[in-house]
Amino acid sequence: VRWGVAFLKPVTWLAASLTAGILLADWIRPHPALPLAGLFFLLPVCLRWPRAAAGAALLCGVLLQSAHGTLGPGTLDRWAGETVRAVGRAEDAAEKRFALQVTEVDGTPARGRLSVYVRSGDLPPEGAAVAVRGRLSEFRGALRMTAAGIEVLRAPGLRPAAKLRALLDRTMRAGLPPHEAALLAGLLFGSREQLPPAWVDSFKRAGVYHVLAASGSNVRMILVVPLFLLARFDRRLGVLLVIPLALLYWALTAGEPSISRATVMVTIALLGTAIGRAADPLASLSAAVLLLLALDPGLLRNIGFQLSVGATAGILLLTGPLQKWLQERCRLPALLAVPVAVTLAAQAGAEPLMLYHFGQTSPVAPVANLPVGWILTFLVPAGCILLIPAILFPALLVLIKPGLWLLVRTVDLFAAIPGAFLYLPPLPWYGVLLWYGAMLLAVSPAIRLHRPAAAVVAAMALLSWSVAYAAPSGVLRVTFLDVGQGDAILLQAPDGSAMLIDAGPATEDGYDAGDRVVLPALRRAGVSRLHYAVLTHGHLDHAGGLPAVLQAMAPAAFWDAGGHQHPLPLGGRRPRAGEVLRLGGARVEVLGPPVVPLQGSRSDLNANSIVLRISYGETVFLLTGDLEPEGEEALLRSGQNLRADVLKVAHHGSPFSSTAPFLAAVRPRIAVISTGPNRFGHPGGDALGRLRSAGAAVYRTDLHGHVTVEGDGRRLRVRTARRPAPAPGTPLLRRPLVGAW
Ligand SMILES: [Zn+2]
Ligand SMILES: [Zn+2]
Repeated sequence: VRWGVAFLKPVTWLAASLTAGILLADWIRPHPALPLAGLFFLLPVCLRWPRAAAGAALLCGVLLQSAHGTLGPGTLDRWAGETVRAVGRAEDAAEKRFALQVTEVDGTPARGRLSVYVRSGDLPPEGAAVAVRGRLSEFRGALRMTAAGIEVLRAPGLRPAAKLRALLDRTMRAGLPPHEAALLAGLLFGSREQLPPAWVDSFKRAGVYHVLAASGSNVRMILVVPLFLLARFDRRLGVLLVIPLALLYWALTAGEPSISRATVMVTIALLGTAIGRAADPLASLSAAVLLLLALDPGLLRNIGFQLSVGATAGILLLTGPLQKWLQERCRLPALLAVPVAVTLAAQAGAEPLMLYHFGQTSPVAPVANLPVGWILTFLVPAGCILLIPAILFPALLVLIKPGLWLLVRTVDLFAAIPGAFLYLPPLPWYGVLLWYGAMLLAVSPAIRLHRPAAAVVAAMALLSWSVAYAAPSGVLRVTFLDVGQGDAILLQAPDGSAMLIDAGPATEDGYDAGDRVVLPALRRAGVSRLHYAVLTHGHLDHAGGLPAVLQAMAPAAFWDAGGHQHPLPLGGRRPRAGEVLRLGGARVEVLGPPVVPLQGSRSDLNANSIVLRISYGETVFLLTGDLEPEGEEALLRSGQNLRADVLKVAHHGSPFSSTAPFLAAVRPRIAVISTGPNRFGHPGGDALGRLRSAGAAVYRTDLHGHVTVEGDGRRLRVRTARRPAPAPGTPLLRRPLVGAW
């Protein structure tokens, strides 16, 4: 059998197997003993049949990742919402904040990066070991903390690269206005802090955001000048002098994943040149992936790393054929065909990942990347060269200002084109695989008719989209979104109509669940149009995220129980109890609030929540907002049918709600609690006990992530984004074989 991909070197297979192993481990989260046992049996086989090494690499991936999950330091997310004492190294100090490279939280080893805001007092010296007290909160995927107290544990250690980087950062801030300094730091070293949001937005819209994240091509642009100079003397000596320079640059970017990838590749290529052997670029990309993932399997989750590898693979596989096609068929001159081919190839390699993770695409990107690339070819080396004398004379950096201005204007120009940037339903994971399969097929000369085959597979990748999203599902899907402490529930009717019930919290430290969780989840679920939005009551943990959602997606109708804690851009109608609505085959019945509002309860806003009973075929959902005992009692008194298979537990599982008589009337089989880190003690122990004794299987968004319940009219199926892991610190021997972390 000829596989037609014989041009792939063994190291590429090993890298792919290791990657697959890490992904597999993430999926089944096995006890490390499982892959260890597998390796024990497979290694002797490898000695006999070297090809079994791919299987061994897969098991190594599983082993590495599961060892990481069970023995490695916990990540910071665990403590989100809690007040903690975090210990780590202070870095990147600027104005009123610094970054803390965390090593320990409340005495437990932990790892992660934290933005620390300092309201008053001095910033700690960079590189110092410090302990910071404060509440950890999540904002736009990053963790941050406002320091209530800072204690310097140890003076700055000897970390020459960090010191040099701090010096260069100070130089850039001294020589340029703040925004330009932040932009230059992004272009040269990949730091994305302090960039004005409008610029970040433009770079994203134009599809050139990668240049702000220190793309791997920086390494080439920076080394080109020294390589050229040194090559004039002695090739080998030059090569050996340039490798340390590449490593220095890597250290200055604090190990940015795309730079790590590029540094390993460049080092392999340079060493190859030194011993007179040309390195195969695809093999050195594979070696870089193999090495970096073996050192840190967690890197695979880093989207920057994924995009960097994807784009590089695209360039290595497709540039040649594309260039040939552009020159021969489109009659482009070589001067233009080469950069166009490189940009298109990089785009082809990165696009499926962009679509999978963000559901975003920027159709102007292939064009925008050309002028941006040309500007950077001058700007990056010039910036590096200028930065050295600028340490003494910061004013010299003025020379680079026109270049930065030109870059921003160019990007703005492309970002302003209508349709420059589109949201699409995210590509499913099998679509990503098919896409890369098509890329490989397109360049596999050993297979007959490989081009038509590639076209067929590419068409399948595009088709996987419609399979996943376009077709009416025929099921009623209710997703309880993990928005932290609050509620946000997406209801997708069998014909695709969508209703959103609440949109999660907005907190004073800038977290907006609408922007951060609800809108991405809507896009991921393929919802491009909201037929109904419902606000059960005006508390901020339900209404906070709504303005962002209403702004992005104006719903056809908006139900609102009133009593807002902050203004909404759109007034809604208060539905009457007894009102019934047909939503694509599902029946939505309004059970509350009562016509005469309840008064004098624990919280009248909660007591008068909108309560919905949704039935589809034989299956029934009951959504109870933030009802407390008075509200539940009023529902019981109203004599309405409360029986339901799935109960959205009232008031985040508060100990006062979910009273025994109410649960006896509902008799839920599945109970979903929407909650997150909070100071109210939700969910309360006795409420959980009552739910369990009522016979309900309990799901919690704080433990399970998004909880999706699907009903085909007869049967129900529950899917959760996470499986609750054993508590951190559970001894290895007491962990289950599957789902061990
Ligand atoms: Zn609430
Ligand atoms: Zn409430």
